[in-house]
Amino acid sequence: MPKFVYDFTEGNKDLKDLLGGKGANLAEMTNLGLPVPPGFTITSEACRSYLADGAFPAGLGDEIEAHLAELERRMGKRLGQADDPLLVSVRSGAKFSMPGMMETVLNIGLNDESVRGLAKQAGGNDRFAWDSYRRLIQMFGKTVLGIDGRFEEALEDLKGSRDDLDLTAADFQRLVEVYKGIVRDTTGRDFPADPREQMRMAVEAVFESWNAPRAILYRRQERIPADLGTAVNICTMVFGNRGMDSGTGVAFTRDPGTGQQGIYGDYLQNAQGEDVVAGIRNTVPLQDLATIDPAAYDELLAIMEKLENHYRDLCDIEFTIERGKLWMLQTRVGKRTAAAAFRIAVQLADQGLIDFDEAVTRCSGEQLAQLMFPRFDSKVKARKITTGMNASPGAAVGRAVFTSERAVELAGQGEDVILVRRETNPEDLGGMIAARGILTSRGGKTSHAAVVARGMGKTCVCGAEELEVDVRAGRLTAPGGVVVEEGDVLSIDGTTGAVYLGEVPVVDSPVVEYFEGTADPSDDLVRAVDRIMRHADQARALGVRANADTGEDAARARRFGGEGIGLCRTEHMFLGERRRLVENLILAADGEERQAALDALEPLQRADFEEIFTAMDGLPVTVRLIDPPLHEFLPDIVDLSVKVATGRGSDRDATLLEAVKRLHEQNPMLGLRGVRLGLVIPGLFAMQVRAIAEAAHSRREQGGDPRAEIMIPLVGAVQELELIREEAVAILSRTGVEALVGTMIEVPRAALTAGQIAEAADFFSFGTNDLTQMTWGFSRDDVESAFFGKYLDQGIFGVSPFETIDRDGVGRLMRIAVEEGRRTRPDLKLGICGEHGGDPESVRFCHEVGLDYVSCSPFRIPVARLEAGRAAIAGTTSDTR
Ligand code: PEP
Ligand code: MG
Repeated sequence: MPKFVYDFTEGNKDLKDLLGGKGANLAEMTNLGLPVPPGFTITSEACRSYLADGAFPAGLGDEIEAHLAELERRMGKRLGQADDPLLVSVRSGAKFSMPGMMETVLNIGLNDESVRGLAKQAGGNDRFAWDSYRRLIQMFGKTVLGIDGRFEEALEDLKGSRDDLDLTAADFQRLVEVYKGIVRDTTGRDFPADPREQMRMAVEAVFESWNAPRAILYRRQERIPADLGTAVNICTMVFGNRGMDSGTGVAFTRDPGTGQQGIYGDYLQNAQGEDVVAGIRNTVPLQDLATIDPAAYDELLAIMEKLENHYRDLCDIEFTIERGKLWMLQTRVGKRTAAAAFRIAVQLADQGLIDFDEAVTRCSGEQLAQLMFPRFDSKVKARKITTGMNASPGAAVGRAVFTSERAVELAGQGEDVILVRRETNPEDLGGMIAARGILTSRGGKTSHAAVVARGMGKTCVCGAEELEVDVRAGRLTAPGGVVVEEGDVLSIDGTTGAVYLGEVPVVDSPVVEYFEGTADPSDDLVRAVDRIMRHADQARALGVRANADTGEDAARARRFGGEGIGLCRTEHMFLGERRRLVENLILAADGEERQAALDALEPLQRADFEEIFTAMDGLPVTVRLIDPPLHEFLPDIVDLSVKVATGRGSDRDATLLEAVKRLHEQNPMLGLRGVRLGLVIPGLFAMQVRAIAEAAHSRREQGGDPRAEIMIPLVGAVQELELIREEAVAILSRTGVEALVGTMIEVPRAALTAGQIAEAADFFSFGTNDLTQMTWGFSRDDVESAFFGKYLDQGIFGVSPFETIDRDGVGRLMRIAVEEGRRTRPDLKLGICGEHGGDPESVRFCHEVGLDYVSCSPFRIPVARLEAGRAAIAGTTSDTR
């Protein structure tokens, strides 16, 4: 039988799979000799079993009882003992941090008798005991019994205009009776007085909270697997609400916003932990603890240093001080902004705590992408209405909305919105995801809004205390009587904390300027990014190319570190003015007219290619011959029919309409496109190959070094490729230009017959957009907006396969093609040019299957370079989240 329960003295930080992050780190701190209240952890394996069977697995109850008995023995008191109760907290803790998404119940063990024992033990502090008891019923009622809202209302009624510190023991005692009444009314039974029953019910509720809707949503957003389950930590209660010599706080060993070294955090006197995260009362900066309780402060600083050196990373910490005694309630490697990630990684490497390989693995491509977001233009005079805390960087502009429901609704209609709240709580998750940015009037950098926004990389300004937020009326009031109603535009700056009325223009980020070669080299963020990028480039095995079809894009791609073009889509060169020439080609009545149309297109194509070869001189340029169906170049069938039917059309319109009808396809994506066009329209591909060859020839004459590669799209059978290849090779040899001729692998049959196709191909480039479309049978233009939301809700996949390569299906086809292609032709060059080429997870997969390069849009090139470096350093299997 598996072991389901571990004492804190038995675990360690590497057991996160089993004990969850919180449990593993509590054990680690216990083993480091830090002051952790004693307790034990129920494994995530027990949770998975409970969720599968709807009941505790055999043996779990006995194991919990044995560990509880041992805890009681050690503490010298029994759970809920009437004259001196042992009280425990029951807290969730999954492998990956899910802040506030799952449940916690504090003060388990209190009832009508033990509350008096607690008061007595607390030196006659009745207020503290009754407050603790009402908190238990409130949390238990909400979490375990599913009673929402009514407790908070009762508390508000009791408080009136008083602060919570003004409430007396008698107030709380009365509140306990009201709360018990609420439980009886809503559930038809009494609040359970038996401490062991309380504990068992709380454990079950924590298990079940793994599948709470907001937890599911968070996991999907963060790509956390749905089947991990949560561990449950049972921990002896310590109290931060035992008077002014007690309190609770959150601390970071470095600033999670900027990465600067120093002591950052918030402290709240005479309060319990949940009060800080919920932003109920305003906290004081952690530094103030130095005057409030110097001994505890010094001890905390020493522990923070020890933890940072031990974990070799920024740690965040939750602690409680009970009557002057410091207790560590949690630590973990802390979440941070993208800028902080780069700065901290480089600082730690310079301090010798980690090496540069590790520094690179600690900065993700997604974080780099965030640093490339634009920021507000400081030269523009904008109307600042207040400044709050810079909780999560970025520049967000949108219409103010005051509820999550409205945020979701308006964002669904394509509006950019800023979610404005007094404070957020886990119920706001949907709105936070939908919003461009989040603005709160209460709570510090460790409030729910700040922590969750940072985790999502979403712009957030919090604790803007000068703002009066009236959620019910849908309005906020700023100093000077400025009123912002729902729908008014706000601009919020998560980097400075500034809040502006109206739309503020945005400018490039310094990191983009760095890639462009125009940044201020003394900017420390730019320096950190530069050092990480250099190391990633040294480490990576994958090449990184660009998808670009203009000289301008090619030049930018090169500045961003692109090592060539992996996909130049030539059909983009047939649009605009040139569309008429394509129409002529389609309308050609005979060979002569067709040739005339092709002759008119050829010099234009040649000039395009020359421009691109110039920008990418000395680097490979993969030109893909025309892919989409021809009718895409003709006018819309409905517009044209109306024009002709109403007599407004010319003769040409009538001829065009005939052509449109002739070429119309029910499933154009599966119709006459790609190589099929080249085989059906004589001279079309030949014209393109000639233009490529002549452009290369001309560049060479001018002293350039063009490296053309010709790519045939949509091949499904080697015979198709052979015919086109023969024609291309003949043209190339006539011009005396050398070029590789290869194919895209984007039809499943091509992947499955890659061994044959490689006979006629110098290279393969995986077109994973079409390969995904055809492997799943998902129309790439329709399904994402039509029903992927439902698919994601139902957990059919955690991320769209058009975004991240579906390893099991599409990925398997890729592996087959790589293996069989290389078997035929060991020097076969392999790349990818679908959108996945710039997706971090997919880049890792490409490294794993041994491609030579990835190709992506110019702006994603730095992301791909970094991820390729990380993949090479981390090996292929480690989880790099
Ligand atoms: C692909 O299918 O992945 C591809 C790159 O080609 P396109 O997107 O142009 O069809
Ligand atoms: Mg394609």
